[in-house]
Amino acid sequence: MAFLEIAKKSLLAAEKYSTLNSLISVQSKPELLRQVQESQRRVSSDLGESKSPIDGQLIAVKDNICTTDFPTTCASKLLEQYTSPFDATVVRKAKEAGAVIMGKTNMDEFGMGSHSMYSHFGPVMQSAEDGQPARSAGGSSGGSAVAVARGMCYAALGTDTGGSVRLPAAYCGVVGFKPSYGMLSRWGVVAYANSLDTVGILGRNTINGHDANDPTSLTPQTRERVQDLLSHNRRRGRRLAIGYPEEFNLVELDDSVRSAWENTLAHLSSQSHKIVPVSLPHTKHALSAYYVLAPAEASSNLAKYDGVRYGYRDPTDRSQDGLLFSPTRAGFGAEVRRRIIAGAYSLSSKAIDNYFLKAQSARRIIQRDFSNAFAQPNYLVTDNLEEGRGEGGVDVLIAPCSLSKAPFLEDVKMQKSPLDSYVNDVLTVPANLAGIPAICLPVMHGEDSVGMQVMAQYGDEETMWEVAKIIEEGLGPKAEQASNPAH
Ligand code: GLN
Repeated sequence: MAFLEIAKKSLLAAEKYSTLNSLISVQSKPELLRQVQESQRRVSSDLGESKSPIDGQLIAVKDNICTTDFPTTCASKLLEQYTSPFDATVVRKAKEAGAVIMGKTNMDEFGMGSHSMYSHFGPVMQSAEDGQPARSAGGSSGGSAVAVARGMCYAALGTDTGGSVRLPAAYCGVVGFKPSYGMLSRWGVVAYANSLDTVGILGRNTINGHDANDPTSLTPQTRERVQDLLSHNRRRGRRLAIGYPEEFNLVELDDSVRSAWENTLAHLSSQSHKIVPVSLPHTKHALSAYYVLAPAEASSNLAKYDGVRYGYRDPTDRSQDGLLFSPTRAGFGAEVRRRIIAGAYSLSSKAIDNYFLKAQSARRIIQRDFSNAFAQPNYLVTDNLEEGRGEGGVDVLIAPCSLSKAPFLEDVKMQKSPLDSYVNDVLTVPANLAGIPAICLPVMHGEDSVGMQVMAQYGDEETMWEVAKIIEEGLGPKAEQASNPAH
């Protein structure tokens, strides 16, 4: 189908599903079509001047990633009027590759949340099927996941600090990729928790995300050393060792999720790969470590939005201490306020020993668990080419991304404590703490899909994509649906 037709269909989908509230800003139709036409001319010219495989494709961008063509609000009242004077590196690279930025997507304020409910612009919704109430789109990149799932764009950018690309991908039945920490540039991405933040990609299939020439932020030299280390130790022959981490088999897992997990392992085994149980004994500390470290980093990152240096200031506030940071006055929503206060507390002299330092050490042990599980050596631990565990370890780990399918939004709103939502991240935060790549794929289970993730050693996206493709081809939604851009 010609680009222009695809773009028009995508715009129709954006209109049709506008009540799902997945987009905060949308490019005007004439400007969007003008940009697409430009690509179309390049791509169809006899000179073959197509800039890249994404030339002319519509990309939506999460609203915490800076763009010059649209405001960047982080779904916060604070930044409602803010437009960045520069494009984030990932946006600049996408534009240079010919992609057309179609709009900015709704999210949890500053990336904090698991259901895209904490937005100044109202919650994102998955459409209500069969007259049922709306389901959660997942968060915090819920707008990006819905935009992709509903055919409003070819792919979307999101951010994943503790699962914000993978959880919405799992709930919405699309593919969500979180790269190794440091692989995609964070320049121009509004920081939530710097040591965990990554830019991720959501698409309907793995083709939407996989590009060996992805922009990088690690220096080319480092990137080359990581790849040398991995390829030196890569298993010869392609009978892969596929691990399943036993600690991810929680009692809270829905039966459908557990059986989709079993089917995935059975499929890989039928392709003659070896299935191996793996123990990551410290996984049980991951959620609490994350919910100490991420808010601590957030409390210092967000201190600049005090309404003096940046952001909205309550006009009724007559206090004289305007230079002192006060999250309650700065116009943050309740969830962000809660995080800032908890984060600042865990860094205070009263709590730093028992909270922040303990969480840091838990993080190190969790990283070690992962490193020991993989056959490939971890560049963050060693750059000695001879240190791989070879036959002892696994090539990838497979586990579900979410405990259940997407809950109803009404049920989420009825939860007694906002902390009840934190448990949704239990299966995704370990990969962020370890800094390793992880991709969530929809695996069909009856009529529904369940999000399954493939995790690999730091920098080993290559093996991660290889296994992702095997799963997608065997168990993913029909190829026919994948090639239909606006269903
Ligand atoms: N739900 C997690 C949180 O609220 C993860 C968010 C994210 O990855 N940005 O912190």
